[in-house]
Amino acid sequence: MNLKLFIKKNVQLARCPNCNTIASLRRSRSRNIFEKIIKKLKISAYFCQSCGWRGRLLTFKLSRNFFKLIFFYIMTMVVSAYIVLRFLRSYFD
Ligand SMILES: [Zn+2]
Repeated sequence: MNLKLFIKKNVQLARCPNCNTIASLRRSRSRNIFEKIIKKLKISAYFCQSCGWRGRLLTFKLSRNFFKLIFFYIMTMVVSAYIVLRFLRSYFD
């Protein structure tokens, strides 16, 4: 499954949540294992160059197609389960 279908880059990243300055955020280096794990979860630590704000932001957010794709996968599973069930019933009857 391609994860890029579900998530996209968070475009609001460029704006500082504290002072609202555009393009002032820089990614801060993860200093310990705990921060590295958080980074793996796509929540990176950032700091603002203009006001000194420090915090974490979601690097990714769900794409618009997310629910459409989830619905499609569930429907595919339900339909194939139904077909298998029908086949098994006709086989054993
Ligand atoms: Zn700021």
